[in-house]
Formats: sequence, C-alpha cells, structure tokens
Amino acid sequence: MQKTFQVGAKTFVLDQEKAEAAFAAKRVINGRQTMTFNLLPLKYQWAYDLYRTMKANHWEPEDIPMGKDIEQWRDEKTVSDVERWIIRMGIGYFSAAEGIVGDNIQHVVRELVTAPELKLVLGRHAHEENIHADSLLYMIASLGINPHECEAMFEDVPTIVRKNEFVTKVSHDLRRDLDLTKPENKRLLAKNIFVFGQCMEGTQFYGLFGMVLSLYRQNKFPGIGQMFRYTLRDESNHIEVFRNLFMDLVEENRDIWTTEFKEELRELMCEAVRLEKEFIRDCLPVNAVGLAVDEFITYIDYIADRRLEGCGLAPLAAGVKNPLPWLAEMMDIKKEQNFFEGRVTEYQKASSLNVARDDEL
Ligand code: FE
Ligand code: MN
Repeated sequence: MQKTFQVGAKTFVLDQEKAEAAFAAKRVINGRQTMTFNLLPLKYQWAYDLYRTMKANHWEPEDIPMGKDIEQWRDEKTVSDVERWIIRMGIGYFSAAEGIVGDNIQHVVRELVTAPELKLVLGRHAHEENIHADSLLYMIASLGINPHECEAMFEDVPTIVRKNEFVTKVSHDLRRDLDLTKPENKRLLAKNIFVFGQCMEGTQFYGLFGMVLSLYRQNKFPGIGQMFRYTLRDESNHIEVFRNLFMDLVEENRDIWTTEFKEELRELMCEAVRLEKEFIRDCLPVNAVGLAVDEFITYIDYIADRRLEGCGLAPLAAGVKNPLPWLAEMMDIKKEQNFFEGRVTEYQKASSLNVARDDEL
C-alpha cells in the first residue's frame, strides 16, 4: 500500500509495505543492517522501557558526601582492619570489573545486535558502567588510597584474577569476524550474554554488595554504601537487560537451545559460584562484627539459582532460602532521597520512576 503526500508543488510517495518488511526484519542478531537509528516502530518494547527506567535513575558520584567515610577510614577505633579490607577488596575488584563489563558491551554485544532499540539500551548500560568506574575513582581519591594499590589488586589477588579471567575469556572469543548464522557462533554470543549478565553482574557482584551494604547498615562508610546502593539498583536493571536479550536471542534461534547447551550454561554458573565463594573467603578471612561468612556464601547459592530460573534453567542448589532478605530493600531509594532530592526530581520529571525490582533478588 502506497501513501501519497502532496506538499506544495511536490509529491512524496511512502511505501507502507516496505516499512513493514523492514520492521519484520528487526532481529536480535542477523537483522536488517541499517545506518539509520530507526527506533520506530519498536519491536523490543522492554528495551525502550528499561532505557527509560535506567535514565530516570541517573546519579553522579560527586553528589554523595564522603566526609564521614574519610573520618572513619582514618580512625583506628570505629572501624576494624577486616572492615577496611572489605572496602579495599570492593574498590579493587569493581575498579576492574566495571570496565570489563563496559568494554564487553561496547566491543561485543552492542556491535553484534542489530535492532536499534537494543543498541539504545546498551548504550545507556555502557554509560552506567562509566559512572560506576568513576564512582570508584571518587572513593579512591576521597580516602587517599594510592591508585597503584588498585592496579596491584587485580594483578596480585588470585581470586580477583580468576574472576576476571572467567569473564574476559568469553569476551575475547567474539572479537573477530563472526558468521552469526552458524549455530556454534550464536552459542558463543548467547554464552557471553549469559556469563556477563547472569554469572558476573547477576551473581559475582553480590558477595561485595552484601558485605559493603552490611557495613552500611551499621553506619560504617555511609558514602561508599550509598554509592553501592545506587550501583546495586543499576545492576538490577543491567541483569534484566541481559536476561531479556538472552531470552529473545534464544527465542529467535531455537536451534541453539539444546540439552547440552543448557547444561553448559549451568556448568558456567556453577564455576562462577565456586569462584565467588573463594573470593568471599578472601574478603572476609574471619567473621567480623555482624558479618558472617556463611551467610554471604549461602546468599550466592540463592542468587545464582534465581538467575538460572530467570533464564529458564534448572537451579543448582534448589530450596536454599535467602539469608539476607534486607539486601532487596537496599535498592528502594525513593524513600530517603535527602541531599539528592532536587536532582532526582529533576531527572525523573516525566518518567516512570525507579522501579524497585525486589522480586529479582
Ligand atoms: Fe556496573
Ligand atoms: Mn553493570
């Protein structure tokens, strides 16, 4: 069906059928290659909705006061060495991890997907990883930590090295010309999206989220804790972006969804969990006040199973109960915006407000 527009002396003919064919060719991968960022009509509505939610949660590290944290960092009496070590591990691990996630989005996933609304939300996702990396820089500068110590942590702490290797190997496999019509290459991408979204951001970030936020609950390092809360809220959206991407990729490419492949993904999660538990034992070599190693370890089993189920995969440790139910509440930032009030209102004017995804935890 052709529609004709008469504008002054000129006539324009727009072909509705051609446009509909282009829409039908929107795909997660192997879709229509286009130089124009044609978001409309939207095919992946979830991607646009998440983009708007993420944008409404915008925050800047410098808006968070660090005075109390600096005071506590220097005071031998209020904060123990174990607690200080957790902060160091948090800063050391995330300094590397946020960059690895952002790099994988920009050089692998956003490159390979073809639908513009998917590229839109992935652009925002990458930007949030920059904010997270910048927030760590702000913590390091505020506390006066030698920046070389951070670099040294991801070279010298073996459990950090192993977590990083686990994710970078599934990223490097995809940095070449890949024929994504081949099932084995589609599986490489699906594996990458699963490992980054569900194993790394979805599971291996949560040991430190639990430990740092449990210090925050005891009024220790309130500025760092606040930044971790904002980061946790962002990560819950990132996990959703990658989960939706994964589900739609599988839906559109049923040929990859074999019993063997499902088992391979579960084994990857199993490995992620093993590495995370090892890492938690390095962060918390002894139980400190209010911090029980076993609770964080059990939490990893619990959260890993939620991620597996979210992707239609069988759990590894079925029946484990959540030992840290308060962690879900930490994402609900609406109630106490305090110093942040003015800005949050401004950013969130016309948008849907931050949805607390408690059910995700
Ligand atoms: Fe992040
Ligand atoms: Mn993230």
